[in-house]
Amino acid sequence: MNFWFLAGEISFAVLYVFFLFFSLSSLREKEKRAFLRSTAVLAVLLAINLLFLVFKDPLKSWLFGGFFILTVFCAFLMLFIPISKKSIQVIGEQKKIDERDVIFARFDYQEGTEVFDEYYKRKPEYKKLDEEIRRIPDILSSLSVKKNPLLLSLASAEFDFLENQTIHVDGKVSDEKIELSPLANTHVIKKIIRYLGSDCCGIAPLNQAYVYSHSGRGPEPYGQEISLKHEYGIAFTVEMDLEMVAAAPQAPVIVETGKKYVEAARISIIVADFIRRLGYSARAHIAGSNYQALLPPIAWEAGLGELGRLGTLITWKYGARARLGLVTTDLPLIAAKPKTYGIQNFCQNCQKCARNCPAQAIPFGEKKEENGVLKWVLNREECYKFWRKAGTDCAVCMSVCPYSKPDNPFHNLIREFNTFSSVFQNFSIWGDDFFYGRFPSRRKKELLSIS
Ligand code: SF4
Ligand code: SF4
Repeated sequence: MNFWFLAGEISFAVLYVFFLFFSLSSLREKEKRAFLRSTAVLAVLLAINLLFLVFKDPLKSWLFGGFFILTVFCAFLMLFIPISKKSIQVIGEQKKIDERDVIFARFDYQEGTEVFDEYYKRKPEYKKLDEEIRRIPDILSSLSVKKNPLLLSLASAEFDFLENQTIHVDGKVSDEKIELSPLANTHVIKKIIRYLGSDCCGIAPLNQAYVYSHSGRGPEPYGQEISLKHEYGIAFTVEMDLEMVAAAPQAPVIVETGKKYVEAARISIIVADFIRRLGYSARAHIAGSNYQALLPPIAWEAGLGELGRLGTLITWKYGARARLGLVTTDLPLIAAKPKTYGIQNFCQNCQKCARNCPAQAIPFGEKKEENGVLKWVLNREECYKFWRKAGTDCAVCMSVCPYSKPDNPFHNLIREFNTFSSVFQNFSIWGDDFFYGRFPSRRKKELLSIS
């Protein structure tokens, strides 16, 4: 058999398998546009293949040979020209963040109270902006809940449940120590966290720069200095449901956020209690008003992902579609190192989150220094203002991010190629826009048939 003909047919076969794989994955994921477009590409390939067969040699051999050479050339460009991976750069001194300045703390302060007066006397620069935002009904306030009484009441119940868990985050340490090696402890903790429901866990040395300086939300009194001297942070992720997130910015998102915060709280409270039973100090940090540290940079140092353009952690498995959990402890453990997945390079060219952000809170441009770290700085006030207008948290950026695609063989293959080839990254950015849309449409999620 003619070599060029055979080589060309093998190239077609490889592309058929790839696009068939893509098309079936899209069908399963109910991604209509991606399914139609990948099937159309498959049909075009088939048509070209049949057209080539119509010709006689030597033209036929030239066409198949040319197709083979073109495919090999593209594959070489995509797979064998390595990326020069950028990592997150710490370029200056990192000062502790005061939790009193965190946006959620600021909007907990009630007008007419001592706390309110003290805060804005000390930080007058926030007063005008915060007053403007306060005129919009608060998320989950009685006024905002009217927008979707059933789902938003469910979200309120989840967040109230979380607040009631804060009394369980710390407790008495057992007098009897169970001593294992750091390696064995690390193994046991990771196994338990996996068993409890998170399949992505890492350990970092607890960097004091990521511990809040003062309490802003509690349970400690407002303004109390935070002293968290634990040696390690155990960070983990809980996956958010893709369809719930794809409904952003509508009520299902906040219901899903609440649900996954509850899951993360359950895991961290049990793990912290378990460690205390081994005779070591441990504290769970749960969502709501209970964090004593910043979770995304600790999770980054634990190797769970990288900070993306959208201002939060992009995890390897679920992209931005994850909620974080944290336990800090003195249990001897083995810490991981931050990993570089190529996400900084990808975000540099992608900008999909910035393009789709309804509040235009995500920067299009270059990174800037914030507290000693070079990063894309989110306009947190504009983001939060939009949440209040929508009456729910937003998550549009999370939903459109190409890394948030499902954890399945097709998307994992794409993620894998994105780690080492800049040409493939550019192809993947273009492909995400072509197959899923530059402005992907929101999905309507009929949660429990009550929305
Ligand atoms: S959550 Fe919404 S408003 Fe905030 S940055 Fe993301 S897309 Fe923009
Ligand atoms: S949407 Fe693109 S730019 Fe934004 S975080 Fe995701 S990969 Fe980065």
